[in-house]
Amino acid sequence: MTARLLAVALAVMLASGEVALAQTPIAGPTPGASGPSPPPVVSARPTAPEEAGLWDLADESERDARNAAELNTDPALNAYLRDLACRVAAGRCAEIRLYVMNRPFFNAMMAPNGYTEIWSGLLLRADNEAEAAFVIGHEIGHFTEQHSIVMQDVIQDRMTAAMVAGMVLGAAAAGAAVNSPNSVGAISDAASTLSNIVYLGTIASVFGFSRDMEDDADRLGFERAIEAGYDPRAGADLWRSLVEETQASDNPRTRRSITRGSIFSTHPVTGDRIARLDQMAAERGASGALHQERYRAAIRPFLGRWLRDDLRRRDYGQSLFLIARLGRRGEDLGVLRYYEGEAYRLRRGEGDLARAQEAYAAALFHPDAPAEAHREHGTALLRTGDRAGAVAAYETYLALAPGALDRALVEQDIAALRAAQP
Ligand SMILES: [Zn+2]
Repeated sequence: MTARLLAVALAVMLASGEVALAQTPIAGPTPGASGPSPPPVVSARPTAPEEAGLWDLADESERDARNAAELNTDPALNAYLRDLACRVAAGRCAEIRLYVMNRPFFNAMMAPNGYTEIWSGLLLRADNEAEAAFVIGHEIGHFTEQHSIVMQDVIQDRMTAAMVAGMVLGAAAAGAAVNSPNSVGAISDAASTLSNIVYLGTIASVFGFSRDMEDDADRLGFERAIEAGYDPRAGADLWRSLVEETQASDNPRTRRSITRGSIFSTHPVTGDRIARLDQMAAERGASGALHQERYRAAIRPFLGRWLRDDLRRRDYGQSLFLIARLGRRGEDLGVLRYYEGEAYRLRRGEGDLARAQEAYAAALFHPDAPAEAHREHGTALLRTGDRAGAVAAYETYLALAPGALDRALVEQDIAALRAAQP
């Protein structure tokens, strides 16, 4: 039972921690990296059974990742992120196998065998290469410090404590049963409920790294990103915007909660954590690169798909915050304003329909507006009674998206509108 629970706990850690994987090993140090690179340190598969078990689980998770439907196999994006990870990993680059996942949550993770995942929800929320470099450096910090292996020992200790507590409760129940035969059922039920709570608490407590480990990883990520030439303020800026996004939630409970690095893990981003990074950045002074333009160029082809995924989380307040952040430099406004319209249309709050119409119309002023913006704009015009305008917008939509799945339906609408016109 203990071994099984341990396996479950470790599997959960691996599956939900801040971790990530790659398809192809990152080969060698990045060309052009400054200074001599230290010789690569490749962590060997451990021989101790407990640690080897953790590696086996990581290998298993990596096989799943390789076959996952959400795996993003775009060669250009993968090459860009491998290069970025390598620059931050420096001498540990050869150990990292990076997998990019199309999943709309802020998450990254790195398992002890080098299997690393980075999720699209994180890529969409990093404003520039320096912020992405900080998060990758943070994960490499957990990796080089072997935090997951340390956590495994902690889990085992807590599991043992939980077992002892379970046995004490069991003995108490048995004692009670002897003393009071009529209440056997009730008491043993109570005992087993209590011991389940103990087990659940044990597992819950290992869903993430400890606060000290998080602070360590922040510091190590900060140092690695600076070493690779990035702006020291990036880490604090990224955590700050995550906190702001939490505050922008539609859900009052989410707004009151602490910001976490992912939906599952216990990686609270606190004011203390941000203040420490601010302090470290102030000590370094503002120097280093952000590389906003090339970062946006790398993720630009995926903005539409990732924003569509983000809307499936159904927290439109957060999606709108994210869209506004992505649009603050006036780039990609055709795509961004279209998805802003989608967020309002789907939220259906008071005034949202009018806001959606305005956003669709604004999207059309930009050459990168998706074809769907014309369709939604047409529907908006129809609501105002402008049938001719709606027909023209629907026709533009079909001309721009000849293979549209809803072509037959839109053609029917056009025919009906034409027939109804005086
Ligand atoms: Zn962490």
